[in-house]
Amino acid sequence: MQKISVIVPCFNEEDSILLFYKEIMKINEKFKEKKINLEIIFVDDGSRDNTLNFIKKLKSDNSWIHYLSFSKNFGKEAALLAGLRYANGDYVAFMDVDLQDPPKLLIEMYKSIVKEKYDIVIAKRKNRKGEPIIRSFLAEAFYKFIAKISKVRMVSGERDYRLMTREVADAILTIPEYNRYSKGLFSYLGFNTKWITYDNVKRVAGKTKWSFWQLMLYAFDAIIGFSTVPLMISTFLGIIFCLISFIMILIIIFKTLVFGDPVSGWPSLVCIIFFVSGIQLFCLGICSAYISKIYLETKKRPLYIIKESDKKEDDVT
Ligand code: UDP
Ligand code: MG
Repeated sequence: MQKISVIVPCFNEEDSILLFYKEIMKINEKFKEKKINLEIIFVDDGSRDNTLNFIKKLKSDNSWIHYLSFSKNFGKEAALLAGLRYANGDYVAFMDVDLQDPPKLLIEMYKSIVKEKYDIVIAKRKNRKGEPIIRSFLAEAFYKFIAKISKVRMVSGERDYRLMTREVADAILTIPEYNRYSKGLFSYLGFNTKWITYDNVKRVAGKTKWSFWQLMLYAFDAIIGFSTVPLMISTFLGIIFCLISFIMILIIIFKTLVFGDPVSGWPSLVCIIFFVSGIQLFCLGICSAYISKIYLETKKRPLYIIKESDKKEDDVT
């Protein structure tokens, strides 16, 4: 019998977890009729509420539910990776626990993979209804910007919610990067991809776990991780400012020789010094951003620590 592993990252989700279970149970029944096994892998990302207790309770009543629990909050990306390493299904899915990723779409995704022979099917929101306007605006701006500066294609409205074949799951596991932005990594891998659109759904309970600054840093990680254009920008700025200063030197020499200009222009000089130093610091900042990422990559720290799991540690690599 074929098996679909569904990886569900959870961070302080005690309010959503039972609601999710109710919904996924219905989908499990539907898959059972098709003689397909569903396996749920909850990844508790260091929750500080009762999430893990709820998960353990569900696990004790259902053999198709599994779990991993981190020693602290390592972030959704780490949770997805841990789940991928744990999952051994013929197909693997990512799904949020807050029901913003409608579980019933999984059936359509599965059909697309089996009947239409896609390797990966990704859920994409038609709109961002219900989301704060500023968040939608910045998200759209981010996708437009990254489309211009990166060769890797990233689609606006695309969710982490996706179903993939074993080949895709194995391929993503071969990428050893520490700084992970999975949407970008999937796009980098290629494969035959289909997007299924659906209307945005609001979180069923609890609050989003992403603050404004976390989202900004996540976007920053994606830009640094998938484009070297910012480095080129700093080089171009350097060249442009060298040219401008060279022209200015020529003008000053000319004015001094021809008009014998007395010393003047102190305020403008200070402004120029400030401006150019600003540009220099900006460029240094861009370089430092890349260096800091290299620094983190070379340390090879584990992306997460598993505190407990329903499998023996040897089985969870
Ligand atoms: N999540 C996680 N670790 C985190 C933040 C979020 O595992 O550090 C999980 C969270 O429990 C949820 C999913 O990732 O299942 C998406 O998070 P959220 O709904 O807060 O994000 P949003 O939908 O607002 O982008
Ligand atoms: Mg959500």
